[in-house]
Amino acid sequence: MRCGIAPWPMFVLTLILISSVSVYCPAADPPAATDLPELGKAIRALVDKDYPYLDALYKHLHAHPELSFQEKETAARLAKEMRQIGFEVTENVGKTGLVCVLKNGSGPVILVRTDMDALPIVERTGLGYASQVRVRNAEGREVGVMHACGHDVHMTCWIGTARVLAQLKDRWKGTLVFIAQPAEEIGGGARAMLEDGLFKRFPKPDYALALHCDGQAPYGTVNYTEGPSLANADAVDIIVRGRGGHGAAPHQTIDPVVIAARIILDLQTIASRETDPLDAVVVSVGAIHGGTKHNIIPSEVHLQLTVRTFKDATRQHVLEAIERIAKAAAQAARAPEPIVRVHPGEFTPSLVNDIPLTRRTVAALKAVLGEDKVLPRPPVMGAEDFSRYAQAGVPVCMFRIGTVEPQRIEEARQGGRPLPSLHSDEYYPIPEPTIKTGVLAMSVAVLNLLAR
Ligand SMILES: [Zn+2]
Ligand SMILES: [Zn+2]
Repeated sequence: MRCGIAPWPMFVLTLILISSVSVYCPAADPPAATDLPELGKAIRALVDKDYPYLDALYKHLHAHPELSFQEKETAARLAKEMRQIGFEVTENVGKTGLVCVLKNGSGPVILVRTDMDALPIVERTGLGYASQVRVRNAEGREVGVMHACGHDVHMTCWIGTARVLAQLKDRWKGTLVFIAQPAEEIGGGARAMLEDGLFKRFPKPDYALALHCDGQAPYGTVNYTEGPSLANADAVDIIVRGRGGHGAAPHQTIDPVVIAARIILDLQTIASRETDPLDAVVVSVGAIHGGTKHNIIPSEVHLQLTVRTFKDATRQHVLEAIERIAKAAAQAARAPEPIVRVHPGEFTPSLVNDIPLTRRTVAALKAVLGEDKVLPRPPVMGAEDFSRYAQAGVPVCMFRIGTVEPQRIEEARQGGRPLPSLHSDEYYPIPEPTIKTGVLAMSVAVLNLLAR
């Protein structure tokens, strides 16, 4: 019916088509159900056999992290792996990104994305394969580098899935577009790849899939959110301007520290007094810089904000409110107009998981992993630039995989040591069950969309 043909004629036509030529209709219902539990068994056997290889790859990637847009060695290693598997690999898409294509007859085009970048954090996990890497950041300061968001797990599952799908080529038809994306952590990599022609130079996907580590969920499990899943994230700078002078003669100055303090408190009234309490909004001032010494009133104070919303109209309202509040506080203090800058380059749109794709994927994951291992989770105010592929017109689904020992979660629940979150210098996944579940889940998700 979605092809515009009445049910009975379509049934007859389908029989004719099946017996003559195979025709791919992207809007058609999924192909006749593959025996998913049997498929799961076959994939599990492949992953078990492949695990020593994946374990070594994971530990190598973990020990050699690179910062956003500097993922040169990482990309080179992944390119080598993908060529060995049989993918056609194009390097340097969106600076350091990779696009790897494997064609296997006519059928849907499925994009599978991994991110590659690590964070400027000194690792304190005490693991034998912990990162010892130190680099200089853009300001020339020495920083540690750590895969504290699990992107090393994502890359390993991505390679593992490619290896499984290449071995099961007789079970699917279509085109795989595996992309390794740079700079997720600074919200720039997906945009860079799209601007470099990701959907023009390479087959445009019918669906896009990705997975992400979950630092609070037990390994062996998957969780998912239908529809809005992660928030719009904006970065805003406010430069509060005053007139500097002696700290003992404030009447001869216009004190930007006091104006900044007023702005910070007034900003909290946006979420509490201006927007619908049921429509989530976060305005956090993450940095405040001003002044040099006790007895000097500075001439400027610099605030840096992160702003999280779900709806576009709410986003516009909150950004306008920030500017209005900053200007009003300055005017009340006879100060020059402040500079309020929203950084378009640091905007990450809300991640909205396509509902039909998510339901279809979740049904397959439940059939293989078990109903109790695949659980819904509410949206959170984090952000992910995987959303950019959805904005470019592709239905997307990102699910999360558990990474932690169930016993540690139980201890934390009972008042023990809290679990470190992603981005913590103490966060670590348990590699074997995490990676095995990730490869199994992603392979099933892809095959469920491609199976003959
Ligand atoms: Zn992260
Ligand atoms: Zn991440």
